[in-house]
Formats: sequence, structure tokens, C-alpha cells
Amino acid sequence: MTELKYDLHCHSSFSDGALPPAELILRAKEQGVTTLALTDHDTVAGLAQAQQAAEQHELNFIPGIELSCLWEKKTFHILGLNIDPCNTELLAGTQQLQNIRLKRAKKIATKLEKNKIPGAFTAVQAAAGSGMITRPHFADFLLKNNHVSSIQNAFDRYLGQGKPAFVNTEWVEMENAIHWINSAGGIAVVAHPMRYKLTASWMRRFLKAFKEMGGLGIEIITARSTADEIRRTVHFAQQFELYGSVGSDFHTPKNQWVELGRLAPLPINIKPVWRLFN
Ligand code: AMP
Ligand code: MN
Ligand code: MN
Ligand code: MN
Repeated sequence: MTELKYDLHCHSSFSDGALPPAELILRAKEQGVTTLALTDHDTVAGLAQAQQAAEQHELNFIPGIELSCLWEKKTFHILGLNIDPCNTELLAGTQQLQNIRLKRAKKIATKLEKNKIPGAFTAVQAAAGSGMITRPHFADFLLKNNHVSSIQNAFDRYLGQGKPAFVNTEWVEMENAIHWINSAGGIAVVAHPMRYKLTASWMRRFLKAFKEMGGLGIEIITARSTADEIRRTVHFAQQFELYGSVGSDFHTPKNQWVELGRLAPLPINIKPVWRLFN
């Protein structure tokens, strides 16, 4: 029997990923991934192309999404795994998020203009095409036009929280995001839980609310997880009886630290989220 290799979190060029869906599938195949979920930010637009390529290359494909939402005014990312991409409630939700992203992009561009950097909106809109406009599009624009020395530098100087072009965004409420995922027959999973820098008591309050709203899973393994982060996340997963997920959050081949399928195994004391796929 061939070994199963899951990667349930990555991005295509329909959000802030570098590769079109078909190239992403090909790369996953090359990396020995057997089951891949595409989880673009707030859009299902890349799923049909990915599904088609996955069938061609005999890779098991899980339609997914990564929704941007608010809980207690803080931004969280909730993955929807094994969703029906045609579900009307979910589609209406993504439409709402697309509008939010468009408005935010205009505000970011205006702030950049005030910092003597014109032309950002036209550039990011062209770069995003029919996909979602994201901050990495702005980072690329700033880098290409020599306003910053690297993508990281773009976040540090302009786009990160508290920086001159940061826009506090009114995403949708987490309750709505989880509801849309569940309406689409999907499984709601907390993405990269250690990236929110919550204290243990905030994390417990957050996970309690997440579960009450119908959330079922938590990402235990990501590409950059440390042993200590995995240990802490396992503890929370057990405490709140959450299913565990594994996902690289792959965006681009240029990032040498993150590769599709290059992930530590899910600890055996955690119930895998893929048990819920059928
Ligand atoms: P957005 O959802 O448009 O605010 O963009 C968020 C995305 O920006 C994340 O999913 C990451 O891919 C990327 N990102 C956030 N912070 C950084 C950073 N410091 N350096 C590079 N990429 C980042
Ligand atoms: Mn991203
Ligand atoms: Mn995320
Ligand atoms: Mn992601």
C-alpha cells in the first residue's frame, strides 16, 4: 500500500498564491501528496480547475476555502474543508468578502498615495485578475517598484498592522463564516492557531466560541510549526475535542521553507479531520 500524504491548506493564483491551480496540483503530485485541499482566501474560483487537474493526475482533491473573519474584533482565518463549491449561501458569503476586499484595496492604495506611492490599485487589480486582491499583491507591487527591499519589508514598512498603509478591515463575523462552511457541507477548521498570538485563556475562550458556532477542527501541523507549538495545539485539540488537520499553507515555490506536503505527521492521539471526509 502506498503511503498517504495529506496537505489540506494551500493557495493558488486565485488568491495570493503564485501557481495556477493546475500547476499547484502537478507540484503536489511531484511532492508525493496523495490528498490535497486548495484553500484560497475567501474564494472558490480556483476549485474547478484544480479538481479537473487532480482527476487527470489521479490525486485525491478536497475542495476548500480559507475565510477571513472577526471574533471579538480580532481577525481569524477559518478553513472550510470538503465544501460544496456551488452552495449558494457560501457563494453569497464569498461575494460579500470580495466586496470587502475590493473596498479595502482602494483604502490601502489611497494610504500608499499619501505616502507618495501612486498607482497601486490599478497594479494590484491587474495582478489579481479574477481572483481576490490580497496584501501580498500590494507587497509584490511595492517590491517590483523598488519601494521596499523584500516582501517581508513591505509588511514591516507599509502593510503590517499599525503601519502607514494598514487598513483595519471589517471582515465577516466568525459565526457567519462557520455557518456558510457548514451550509456547504464542509468542516470548519481553525487555521494556524499559533499565529494569532493569543494567551492560553484567550485561546480557550476562542475555541469554546468556535465549537459552539459549529467548528470541528484545528490545524495541528503547519509547515513552520515548532515542536512546542505542536505540543500546545495538541493540548487544546484534546481539551476541546477537536479533529486535527495538517496543511503547509504553501503560497509560492520562492519560499524555500514551505513546500507542499512537507509536513510532520499528525500525532497519533489526535483524530484526523479526514475521517470526516466522505
Ligand atoms: P490579507 O488576507 O489580504 O490581509 O493577506 C494576508 C496574507 O498575507 C497571508 O495569508 C499571508 O499569505 C500574507 N502575509 C501576512 N503577513 C505577512 C508577512 N509578514 N510577510 C509575508 N506575507 C505575509
Ligand atoms: Mn495568504
Ligand atoms: Mn491564513
Ligand atoms: Mn493560508
